[in-house]
Amino acid sequence: MAALRTGRTVATFAALLLTVAAAAPATAATPAAPLRCPGPQLPRRPFIALQRLLIDPGHGGGEPGTIGVAEIAEKHLALLIAKRLRDRLQEVDPALDVRLTRSADIDLSLQDRAHLANLWNPELFLSLHLNAAPNPEAQGVETLTLAPVGTVPGDPVPGREAEGACSIAAEVGVVGDDTAVVLDDLRRAAATNLGLVAAELMQQSAIAATGAYDREVKQGRYRVLRGLYMPGIVVEMGFLSHPEEGRLIPLPAWQACTVEALIDGLLRFDETLAKGDFPVASPDASRPAPPVEPGADPAATTPPTSPTRSAPTLDLP
Ligand SMILES: [Zn+2]
Repeated sequence: MAALRTGRTVATFAALLLTVAAAAPATAATPAAPLRCPGPQLPRRPFIALQRLLIDPGHGGGEPGTIGVAEIAEKHLALLIAKRLRDRLQEVDPALDVRLTRSADIDLSLQDRAHLANLWNPELFLSLHLNAAPNPEAQGVETLTLAPVGTVPGDPVPGREAEGACSIAAEVGVVGDDTAVVLDDLRRAAATNLGLVAAELMQQSAIAATGAYDREVKQGRYRVLRGLYMPGIVVEMGFLSHPEEGRLIPLPAWQACTVEALIDGLLRFDETLAKGDFPVASPDASRPAPPVEPGADPAATTPPTSPTRSAPTLDLP
């Protein structure tokens, strides 16, 4: 019986292949490779220290991002995965406050994404993107985070940022106030340090749970991250330009695998936050010591004139 059924299945499958081959043009695209997915490495549990998470689906509106072999714009896939991640996180921990910088196909500048983050002040800003490269063999996951101020040649204002209207410092007039400027720098430096911790944990988790090629953590002065007062990372979840990976990415199974990998990374980051054993920034020796109490976490210190944490007026989607 089993042999008969197998024989019929093989015959049916062969007929199907012949039909597909006859229908397919000579330049048929490479089919999606089998999905590798070792799966989540951690048991699901409520979050301890991570209470607010801002997920930023890359691009949107007139900025489609990259369009790869599956011919679906990055902006749509990033939003789809962001919503899947939000929904899954709400199942894992209904108490976790998860919001999106955009929940529709709209234009949103990089500065406005950072601005929304600073108004709401989550424990982590997680930007989701998909990659592309001229070399079709490029594949895998990489996590981007900020390099410290002044470490990248060509940074427009070494030691200070210039975000124009989106700068909280500019809005509340701390520019020119030495104490506020030092505190402002200190908060950003602490956020940058913690961002690197988050990036390393996310990258390790993503590779372990998806089995993807490890492109490692990269640091740079990424515009979407450099205005943030909290740790921020960009996860480039895969290459839409890769002939196999690019066809897997639109599949629900690939996205579910990636979502679980992201949750592993968030759980590891939560564990680190809860323990509090992460590096914090120390003030530049050439500057006057800021009025921060000994032992206080500079990341949690709010400049006296900063409006962050107090009733944001923007209604995030
Ligand atoms: Zn992108």
